[in-house]
Amino acid sequence: MKGLKKLCRISAFGGILAVGIVVALLQMKLTALAEEREGLYCDNGEWHYYINGEIDYDYNGLAVDEATGKKYWFDYGVPAREKEAYNPETDAWYWFEADGSMAVDKDVFIPVNEERTAGKWVRYDCDGNMIKGEDFRYGGWYWFDLSTGEMKKGFAYIPDGTDEGKWVYYDEINGQMHHGESFICGGWYRFDDITGKMQHGEYCSEEENWYLYDEITGIMQKGEVFRKNNWYYYDEITGIMQKGEVYHHGNSYYYDTQTGIMQYGFMYRNDKWYYYNETTGVMENYNNVVVVLDPGHDSRHTGASYYGLKEHEINFKIALACKEELEKYPGVTVYLTHDTLACPFAGSSVKTDLEQRTDYAASVGASLFVSLHNNAGVYGFSGFEIYYPNSNYASEYNGIGRDVSECIAQELRNIGLNDNGICSKDSDAYDDDGTNWYPDGSRADYYNVIRNSKYHGITGIIVEHAYMDNKYDVANFLSDDEMLIEMGKADARGIAAYYGLRRN
Ligand SMILES: [Zn+2]
Repeated sequence: MKGLKKLCRISAFGGILAVGIVVALLQMKLTALAEEREGLYCDNGEWHYYINGEIDYDYNGLAVDEATGKKYWFDYGVPAREKEAYNPETDAWYWFEADGSMAVDKDVFIPVNEERTAGKWVRYDCDGNMIKGEDFRYGGWYWFDLSTGEMKKGFAYIPDGTDEGKWVYYDEINGQMHHGESFICGGWYRFDDITGKMQHGEYCSEEENWYLYDEITGIMQKGEVFRKNNWYYYDEITGIMQKGEVYHHGNSYYYDTQTGIMQYGFMYRNDKWYYYNETTGVMENYNNVVVVLDPGHDSRHTGASYYGLKEHEINFKIALACKEELEKYPGVTVYLTHDTLACPFAGSSVKTDLEQRTDYAASVGASLFVSLHNNAGVYGFSGFEIYYPNSNYASEYNGIGRDVSECIAQELRNIGLNDNGICSKDSDAYDDDGTNWYPDGSRADYYNVIRNSKYHGITGIIVEHAYMDNKYDVANFLSDDEMLIEMGKADARGIAAYYGLRRN
């Protein structure tokens, strides 16, 4: 406007040139308006801030390009480029790009050296304000330092709305929060699928596998772990808590199938006893005794029958009771040669039936074969006899058999049966079926099951409990199931006593 007033004064002195001046005036005015800049202008790629048509070399602060809405920053008239600036009016930091425009809604790497090898990643929101604290972007969560705005990488302890706070992990490369299972610096961790909170302590997956994460570090535990007074074992690779029988460190252990707690002492499973050291839990080579109980006779090869009692039926009841009782002892596995009254070897003669019973005992690894019978036919006799192997051919079974028999005899005496003694019995001199002599020429055992047990390396004995044709025995030991069960239990106690078995 100064220039315009000057022109007006000139025109007052030059009337002759009035028309020309008016034309000139109009031209000048237009030119003056065009040159009288205010605010932000870009001249050949260089931003300037104008005041009264002139570049203001003292200008500090923000300026907005009305055309684009982009913001620029000036320090003494010089636009900021690739530079951070603090605006005291908003009390916030901003970043200005290489073209001078303010960074908005983006991540920026702010180097601290010329080589750009060190620096920090920061994020600016839609208004260009540096973000601090938690922020969601690119489908994930990030954390920016509350004072510097630096993007957090690695482990971080952040508030989670509770007094506790939470440990989380931000990716070392892109800074995004991890969820689920994550392998970090040689260890496995687990972070909540939603909150990213690091798991500590026990964790059960959807597949119902249990894991353990260290209470302090959060690292997944592997191998043996002592926790709350119990030992557990977590797979060395997967970290999954192991249950049942587990082999590690050169030994077998047993972990409860529900809780995973290491077990000690005797355990019975799959028809077998196992022993785990009371201190170490290591499975020990336990000398598991296999006993085969042979309920004498069956519905095809019936025995004696008196007073309405059938021998194969009462033998079977005694055998069942004996098995049940004996299985209460750790360290013994019990089999029956037949578990119904029917003959297990259909179509067999008595001789091959008996041989097959001892063959079966051999097949299950028996060390003792006990054939359970009741007697009849000797006038006036009452009570038991037990037969054991003679001392011929393989003499060790004679000694074992005698000792087992004596143990059983003691128990049968204790329940009141008359004692007719224990003995071995040789076959007679007539070799009518080729079985009366052992291969070494010695007299064979008379009873088929004792003889064939010896051939199989098994101690075979026969227990004749009572006389079915004796009224006293029938009344006191044979006439009801409770009595039969008592005899079966007595047999079991005798067998257990011989092997030195102890109840848990
Ligand atoms: Zn019999």
